[in-house]
Amino acid sequence: MRHPRTGVLTGGLILLGLAAIPVRGGERALVNTAKSPDARMYMVDLGDAQWTGGLWGGRFAVCRTTMIPHIWELFQNEKDSHVWANLLLAAGQDQGVVDRRHEGPPFDDGDFFKWFEALAQTYAVTHDPATDALMDRIIGVVAQAQRADGYFHTPTVIAERQGAAAVKEFADRNHFETYNMGHLMTAACVHYRATGKTTMLVLARKAADYLCGFYQRAPPELARNAICPSHYMGVVELYRATGDPRYLELAKQLIEIRDEVKDGADQNQDRVPFRQMTKAVGHAVRANYLYAGVADVVAETGDQTLLRPLEAIDRDVVDHKLYLTGATGALYDGASPDGSDDFDDIQLVHQAYGRDFQLPNLTAYNESCATVGFVLWNWRMLLLTGDARYADLVEQSLYNGVLAGISLDGIRYFYVNPLRKLRDFAWPLRWSRERQPNIQRSFCCPPNLVRTIAEAQDYIYTLSRDALWVNLYGASTLDTTWSGGGRIKLRQETDYPWSGAIKFTISEAPAQPVALRLRIPGWSRAGQTAVSINRGPVAGEFRPGTYFELRRTWQPGDVVQLDIKFQPVVLEANPLVEETLNQVAVRNGPLVYCLESNDLPAGVRLEDVALPLGGGSDRFTINRRQIAGADVATISLPALVLPRDRTDVDRLYHEVDPAPPRTIQLTLIPYYAWDNRGDTEMTVWLPVR
Ligand SMILES: [Zn+2]
Repeated sequence: MRHPRTGVLTGGLILLGLAAIPVRGGERALVNTAKSPDARMYMVDLGDAQWTGGLWGGRFAVCRTTMIPHIWELFQNEKDSHVWANLLLAAGQDQGVVDRRHEGPPFDDGDFFKWFEALAQTYAVTHDPATDALMDRIIGVVAQAQRADGYFHTPTVIAERQGAAAVKEFADRNHFETYNMGHLMTAACVHYRATGKTTMLVLARKAADYLCGFYQRAPPELARNAICPSHYMGVVELYRATGDPRYLELAKQLIEIRDEVKDGADQNQDRVPFRQMTKAVGHAVRANYLYAGVADVVAETGDQTLLRPLEAIDRDVVDHKLYLTGATGALYDGASPDGSDDFDDIQLVHQAYGRDFQLPNLTAYNESCATVGFVLWNWRMLLLTGDARYADLVEQSLYNGVLAGISLDGIRYFYVNPLRKLRDFAWPLRWSRERQPNIQRSFCCPPNLVRTIAEAQDYIYTLSRDALWVNLYGASTLDTTWSGGGRIKLRQETDYPWSGAIKFTISEAPAQPVALRLRIPGWSRAGQTAVSINRGPVAGEFRPGTYFELRRTWQPGDVVQLDIKFQPVVLEANPLVEETLNQVAVRNGPLVYCLESNDLPAGVRLEDVALPLGGGSDRFTINRRQIAGADVATISLPALVLPRDRTDVDRLYHEVDPAPPRTIQLTLIPYYAWDNRGDTEMTVWLPVR
């Protein structure tokens, strides 16, 4: 048997090391739960779902033509980055410069593999031979940079090559070895599934085998070295790709060994045994990666004692700690547990989840990687449960937090993602409040965002033994093999997220009945959704936050129309969110909107604008326009400009100007599109008067 797209001989059973694995539909997916006993659904194979235009089609095109090549240039240019130079050095390709050292952060290898993953994902769509050749070349270098025992970490390998005597693996928790090896495994699985080649997978197995041995002899204290645990997801995916049960055992052991840590800390989510956790704490990227990896283990084991804390923590985030933009991790720095009776219990945290309702806007940390991690976690919760609540969360984070991480031209990135920016807030924060073309101190976010944009199309459709699930809406095609038997081929036509008219045309379907499950978004209003088949209305409740099921034997040419009414809505937060008290935000469909200072009339300051209370839906006008060459829909609405005496406004307190406000027409843009028109001010939340 040949890989259907690459033609590489796979033989029906692939012999890989000692494992023989079958190849069938869903097993070449980004996350392969096709055989996972406790997963409700599984993803379609890489390349089976593709954007055909619209917002995400545009983002994928920029990803392929600009984001990925731009990062590759950065990696190779030593003025900007040492990532590729480090790999060459570790591979022994130092071109005779024997005294060079590893440079840059120790987690660069993992960030390189995130970028490689994006490359493999785009190959699954384009089948571009030059991309394939580039991946082959890179894999050759990675193979040489890997130690014979499978250990992979360029800082250590380079030092060993140069004869440094005191180099030890896992000597420092901030060396991120397991993070680097975890991303090697994930990237290798995507490469294998995209190309049918096992060249990278072999390296990932060596690394996993090394970790299997290491954790058999490692004391529990070393579990704490596994910060930012991307390897939980990595080893489970490798188990799925190879069928080798040792990797699933390793994943289970990685969770157990955390609980044995005696002096754990909330920052690394190991102060409390995992099964006793109910709250999201500590470093938000590490937390979200941990939760995602544990969800992977649940899919394979059905361990309900692990699922219950995941559900409780997810609920905690959604009810208390999630920004409207789908971002998480409010704090630059903080203390946990805050306000403890015992002074000795207070521990520092950074880049972290805050207390309930602690959601500052100007100083919101919201690392882009945490938003990506939140998508990875909730996506796995959706695969486990089929609960549309998790698809809503994935959509919220993708359309707002993830898209905002990269400029529309695809070459500048946010590390942190505030919901407000004011010029007078001038004291230095740790990270830039404008997107940067390179983040040399930590290049974790850019390739993480890029791989997520490359892979968003994999989230549109999923399958189960009785159904095709539509999780995301956007112009796209699907051509896939169904485990129930037969092929499913359809086209989705829509300009979502600008409107909610969505048309599916089926061109091929199995001979037996299949349920088409359409997600009715949680943000939609009851009674505002309609469904028809071949122009005949379908009766139903269409409850927001659920999947609506249409089950029948589908015929080629069948047309399903889904109409979700779009209407801008004005939202307020729980009053305990002190930073948004008496303020509102505007959302239309899945998109959160913001006010950017470029759109204000001359002389009007961002902080002087308020929205009047009340008013009907007819006060909103939707306009289409371009920002930085990308199509967006803006929202226009009447607003108030509050008078402000400029002579004393900079004082800490000043008297309110008694003059009446004047009315202007305000323009709001999608949050993700801000900071594409120069150094501006911005706010998601606006006061009401
Ligand atoms: Zn990051």
